[in-house]
Amino acid sequence: MGDVRRSIPRTDAVLEQLADHVARFGRDRVKAAVVAAQQQARDGAIAASDVARVAAELLVELTSFTPVINATGVVVHTNLGRAPLSRNAFEALGSVAGYVDIEFDLETGLRSKKRGSRVLDALIGATPGAEAALVVNNGAAAMSLVMTCLAAGQEVIVSRGELIEIGDGFRLPDLIESTGPRLREVGMTNRTHLRDYADAVGPDTGCILKVHPSNYRVEGFVAEVPVSELRELGAPVVVDIGSGLLQPDSMLPDEPSASAALDAGADLVTASGDKLLGGPQAGIILGRAELVERVRRHPLARAMRVDKLTLAALEATLTGPDAPVTVYRRLTADELLPRTKAMADSLGSGSVDIVEVEGRIGGGGAPGVSLPGWALALPESVAAQLRSGRPAVVARIADGRCLVDLRCVPPETDAELTRLIREALDADR
Ligand SMILES: *Cc1c(COP(=O)(O)O)cnc(C)c1O
Repeated sequence: MGDVRRSIPRTDAVLEQLADHVARFGRDRVKAAVVAAQQQARDGAIAASDVARVAAELLVELTSFTPVINATGVVVHTNLGRAPLSRNAFEALGSVAGYVDIEFDLETGLRSKKRGSRVLDALIGATPGAEAALVVNNGAAAMSLVMTCLAAGQEVIVSRGELIEIGDGFRLPDLIESTGPRLREVGMTNRTHLRDYADAVGPDTGCILKVHPSNYRVEGFVAEVPVSELRELGAPVVVDIGSGLLQPDSMLPDEPSASAALDAGADLVTASGDKLLGGPQAGIILGRAELVERVRRHPLARAMRVDKLTLAALEATLTGPDAPVTVYRRLTADELLPRTKAMADSLGSGSVDIVEVEGRIGGGGAPGVSLPGWALALPESVAAQLRSGRPAVVARIADGRCLVDLRCVPPETDAELTRLIREALDADR
């Protein structure tokens, strides 16, 4: 023990080593990090030779959030911040951190009214059939704003089969009624027909709402009315697709896309930005120009306005290469196997098994879709060790084992993940 204490580098020496950090974060903060790292070494949690490295890592923790390696195989993981941002989106955040021309015309030197117009153009460009677009805080805001704008003091007609709870106890009906519109439920949980809607449409109708029940599936004796028929009833039709898929994807045949809904005759579509679209948290409204403009001018829209960070990250997501969620959900079992084997090999055969697993889209989307892949199977008790690492590794626990699925792990992180697993296995022994 005495030896360990003596081998711990002195504070002054580490501070000298971390001169760049002192310049950036200030001496007091760096010193506090060094003292914390020295304590970890004294406790035997880290090697004495790692004090400077660990102190530097502690400094990088600029927020109270702990970075997580998502080894669950769930692509849009609500509890882990939904969609991870693409490299482009990440860099875009840095590039707009200072002052930017968000509402300023650099040519004339005057205020520009086109806030975020390039993002809107990118959205419209990526969504055939959309004449105009608007971005607000999240999917729930998009939907609630549209309902208020089209139906305050009037009725929103919606099928009983589509009155969903979106998570954390939030129910769509409550959300809609909280800002003025009355809900007019039609049909039954499993079957709703065109005549149910037709009977309800009248002078009090603000709009017809069709919600994609994204987080569950009704099977068996079911019937719903397609948008192409609802549009014939004479009231505006709004479709809440949830997922944010802008165009159809053959791998997700049951997920509605914005362009398909608009093609079918929807007047407006609402969606989230951080589900299958793979961008920052945002609510997206797409559709007919005249209606989008009405929504944009509604006083409540100002309360749901997004900032430059969201606009920049969304634009970079839309104009860049496939977002990480798209890459991850398309990975095949054959693509994942060699990486999984390589990791098992470097951990030493015998200590880990490789098992078949099924990943998920997650985020309350595509509940019927499973994503076949492979996982390292570790003892269940390793899961807690993995979560206590930095970055933390969150794996899936199933059948008494801790399953590490590489689907949502960027390949360049494999070496770091291998190190973290090795440390967790050692600590668990
Ligand atoms: C996710 C979802 C919402 C809510 O969107 P947020 O971005 O979480 O606010 C609303 N409707 C549907 C159908 C959804 O799937």
